[in-house]
Amino acid sequence: MGRGAQGRCPHCGKGRLFRAYLKVADRCADCGEELHHHRADDFPAYLVIVIVGHIVVPLVLAMETHYALSYWISMTLWPALTVALSLALLQPVKGAVVGLQWAVGMHGFEQSKKDRVATVR
Ligand SMILES: [Zn+2]
Repeated sequence: MGRGAQGRCPHCGKGRLFRAYLKVADRCADCGEELHHHRADDFPAYLVIVIVGHIVVPLVLAMETHYALSYWISMTLWPALTVALSLALLQPVKGAVVGLQWAVGMHGFEQSKKDRVATVR
């Protein structure tokens, strides 16, 4: 999950996991690990909503409780912070989800996990 969160191949940790912002590469250019059969789907987006919500909502409540922010600041600061945090977190969270699926052998990663386990034994 850590390698995926850093945008690296979960198998070797060297190759790039993404070929575009949220497009997972079909295979690792470094070790050849197949990555196309991940099924992250909407799960990273749900996680980002939970994480950003737990950051922004307490900040909004604290600032509105202790300070009287003008409307224009509230109407620009909070949406901008929400969008910035969401865009910053989407790729690492998706990488972590793909890394988790790879580590536990979900979906198309079953054979890869069997090969890893057989190599260790
Ligand atoms: Zn690799």
